[in-house]
Amino acid sequence: MKGAELVDTLDARLEPLEIAANRAWWNANIDASEATQAARAAADLAVSDVLADSEAFAEVRGATASPDADPTVARALAVLEQAFTPHQIVPDLRRRLIDLEAAIGSRFARHRGTLDGEPADDNAILAVLRHSDDAERRRAAWEASKTIGAEVASDLRELVRLRNEAARELGYRDHFALVLATTDFDEARLFDTLDQVDSITRDPFRAMKSALDARLAERFGVAVTDLRPWHYDDPFFQDPPKDAGVDLDPNLHEADLEALTVRTFDGMGIEVRGVIARSDLTPRERKVQHAFCIDVDRRGDVRVLSNNVPGARWAETMLHEFGHAAYFNGVTRDLPWVLRTMHLCLTEGVAMRCGRLVHDPEWLGRIVGLPAATVDELAPRLHAARRTSLLVFARWVLVMTHFERGLYADPDGAHDSRWWDLVERFQLVRRPDGRSAPDWAAKIHLCVAPVYYHNYLFGELIASQLEEAFGGLVDRGQVGAQLGDRLFAPGAARRWDHLIEHATGEPLSPAVLKRALQP
Ligand SMILES: [Zn+2]
Repeated sequence: MKGAELVDTLDARLEPLEIAANRAWWNANIDASEATQAARAAADLAVSDVLADSEAFAEVRGATASPDADPTVARALAVLEQAFTPHQIVPDLRRRLIDLEAAIGSRFARHRGTLDGEPADDNAILAVLRHSDDAERRRAAWEASKTIGAEVASDLRELVRLRNEAARELGYRDHFALVLATTDFDEARLFDTLDQVDSITRDPFRAMKSALDARLAERFGVAVTDLRPWHYDDPFFQDPPKDAGVDLDPNLHEADLEALTVRTFDGMGIEVRGVIARSDLTPRERKVQHAFCIDVDRRGDVRVLSNNVPGARWAETMLHEFGHAAYFNGVTRDLPWVLRTMHLCLTEGVAMRCGRLVHDPEWLGRIVGLPAATVDELAPRLHAARRTSLLVFARWVLVMTHFERGLYADPDGAHDSRWWDLVERFQLVRRPDGRSAPDWAAKIHLCVAPVYYHNYLFGELIASQLEEAFGGLVDRGQVGAQLGDRLFAPGAARRWDHLIEHATGEPLSPAVLKRALQP
């Protein structure tokens, strides 16, 4: 079959099944029940069955090997090959992987730590770590947050072995190498970027952290050398403690988040009222508690799920999710189905760029309408808080990515101690004395979103590069059209790294992080 014909044929098979899977995903998230979960699993399996079709895969490979004159067709074939590859394993192994992943995932959903002899959910544990000044109570909460690790660690190691078995069957070193190769990441370049991020952030992070540690030591009445992981509000220290941030809730507690979102995107020349109308934005029973944006049919049915309550957190979430929505709506509709999407790190970059507006003095002044004196007073602290949060997050991603590469390189290795070696090296957080436990296994991404974390760091780099290339977003009526033409329209028809260079005039470089971190 000719390349173009093959792309059409596979589009016609995948499009209706993926639309059905997207609808099922939406329904399961706005109304969690056994029926909606079962419908979702069935719809996902139908997509996976097409991607496992070995004859179709052979045709894609054959067509990929012959140079095709049309670059869009050639790119569609390359993307199809990447989508089919991970599914080309013996059916028994594919089923064992799906079952084990689902089993570990549901243990995460059901598990509750124990605090004061009572089951405690994540919010209860986080509330102690955010607000308590009692170090022993904080320690108990932190330990409760890690008990899921001990419960799933051996199954997780088994999942890692199975993922490696599948990857080797496909000719890859391990699962880590397979995921990078099928998502347009070159491993050597990725780790070169991580090394540069390490050297750019090392000194400013150390300086920021010693100031933070001095404040925490005073607050808890201990020596700096006695600070341990439970003194930092987040169980993984992936976000800065509240002692290092700015609380914007008093400025946003009366804000109408939908109106603010519409007003913000109107200012960029981007229409989001249609998305608002299709979205589900208020908290409710049986609805998932986080937020996401989904492009259901790649023809304009874009929806956001959120759980808005007044305040800074959900204001940022709304701008973030509607950044995803603007991107989805900006992709050219006449591309093949498989290209009418984009790389995860690009859409995260756009969403993060929009979410950052909440800490932008211009946005707080012009869109929220805070008095000039308030904005002037907040401005330097907002900059410092943004910088701290970038530093903390970058160091955390270094831990995750290095850890995960080592986990797949040797699933039976001494990962309990290796985890703390990396935390001490990159995050400068001391391990608890005498602790021997699989604390790494408490991080849900290792199970449900393997080899994914670097996308968040690249998202931050891309957000900073967009900020430099396109300037401010507040009431810049042309910026929506500029982003649309240069970044959104091509969808996945270009590789993400080529597209960011095309859109901003420069290849993505960690140097942008150095500039973003200027005090
Ligand atoms: Zn996002």
